[in-house]
Amino acid sequence: MHNYLQEKYGLFIDGSWVDAHRKETFKVINPSTGEELCCCAEASREDVDKAVQAAWKAFQSYKKTSPVERSALLHRIADAMTAQVDKLAMVECLDTGKLYKEAKSDILFAADFYRYCAGAIMTYEGKASVINDTTMSLILREPIGVVGQIVPWNVPFVVGAWKLGPALAVGCTTVVKPSRYASLGMLEFMRCIEDIVPAGVINIVTGSGSRCGQYLLEHPGLRKLSFTGSTEVGRVVGEAAARKIIPVTLELGGKSVNIIFPDSDRDKVKSGLRAFLVNAAQVCSAGSRLFLHEEIYDEILAMAVDLFNSIKVGLPWEEESQMGALCYKGHFEKVMNYVALGLAEGARLACGGTRVTENGLDKGNFMRPTILADVTNEMRVAREEIFGPVLVVIKFRDEEEVIRMANDNSYGLSGAVYTRDLNRAIRVARGVETGRMWINAYGDISTTGVIFGGCKESGIGREGHWLSFDHYTQIKSIVINLAK
Ligand code: NDP
Repeated sequence: MHNYLQEKYGLFIDGSWVDAHRKETFKVINPSTGEELCCCAEASREDVDKAVQAAWKAFQSYKKTSPVERSALLHRIADAMTAQVDKLAMVECLDTGKLYKEAKSDILFAADFYRYCAGAIMTYEGKASVINDTTMSLILREPIGVVGQIVPWNVPFVVGAWKLGPALAVGCTTVVKPSRYASLGMLEFMRCIEDIVPAGVINIVTGSGSRCGQYLLEHPGLRKLSFTGSTEVGRVVGEAAARKIIPVTLELGGKSVNIIFPDSDRDKVKSGLRAFLVNAAQVCSAGSRLFLHEEIYDEILAMAVDLFNSIKVGLPWEEESQMGALCYKGHFEKVMNYVALGLAEGARLACGGTRVTENGLDKGNFMRPTILADVTNEMRVAREEIFGPVLVVIKFRDEEEVIRMANDNSYGLSGAVYTRDLNRAIRVARGVETGRMWINAYGDISTTGVIFGGCKESGIGREGHWLSFDHYTQIKSIVINLAK
């Protein structure tokens, strides 16, 4: 299995693979077995600087390419990653503990998003307006320049595509920093497209957030920052952008609601509950607060418990596994601690709550899908993002109460409502303060091209849609004197 990997990965700067300036590296650990997989370069400030300079050099010619050329480039990227999907998925599975089949689906989703950007850039236009008889104004959307993009460990291919697709489409060049817990997918993706992308257009620097990530944030040469990760680090990124007076996109945490009314379609509810466990629920938009109407509380809770108990936790590369490992040890411990916290706060353990150690899983970060029932909205387990397979269940009486409880939280990323009453569905969807609301679905239907992003402490800006092209361009107004 390990012959999918290089022994050592360098940085990708100016079209070449290079060692880190200080020759430092960090180890990559397989979260399913605890084994060392390989090592990656730990970028220093000098390396980040070289990457930014290479991106500026490439920008001078890349910004002049036509939308047709950039569209063709994006199609070639999508085709190359699709052709190598099996290998890329195995690398991602080894590196992050994500199920092989889920990694494959992430990569194909990402490829589709590059294709979506390839199409959308062909119709992305400026404007012209007649101000008066002798004055005309042109509004151009010009690429903003070199951008810094910080990618998290949970869905690097998808988030990577949401950042790279728009940047490349509009003519920006970029320096990307993947998470040290999930760098291999981005590095192998780069190996798969390195002959397609002009030198310096995409540069990849690896290393820890507090060093490499921080050097990138502090670099004076960037014209935009885009970050996906925790709200805590999001604040640091926002401050760095404010100091530089550059725009920033922040895609942060969530504690999203899944609201079930008595008249809901049970098959759809079950499908949405199953979707919660995708990627071991390490998904920022996961419906981690399940609100059940009092009339159906016991029934749906029993359905969820049966479903969670039936999930086969196993090695992520094995076909029959239905949930893999959590991405890294520190995170796994944090999630397990939340279970203990919930019980101490008075929640009831309806299922799970323990580590999985049988069948050779004892060295990995495996836990059983867990449900904390009888939770109140005030408990920390209902307020804080756990980012793992721990669902908290809260009872509600009526529409007004559930909207109030849904909004009594600092996050506002996603959410869902299940009911056959369309008016109520729309009222609740409008009432919940969130960036995205699903009706009668939750993460279990396709969303390529559907806009994504949060409000409140879940972030600023939107991704996954051509509207994010605006974040990578700046407006220039050209005013023309038409007088004779
Ligand atoms: P972080 O926010 O720490 O990491 C996200 C990205 O930011 C990673 O690439 C990380 O690098 C980088 N980073 C970390 N510190 C800095 C810094 N000072 N300057 C620049 N970049 C930095 O997430 P964690 O991995 O620590 O996860 C903690 C929690 O964040 C999770 O439990 C979850 O609640 C939330 N989270 C939310 C995500 C989302 O999709 N909204 C994604 C990931 C996490 P590195 O990993 O190399 O340190």
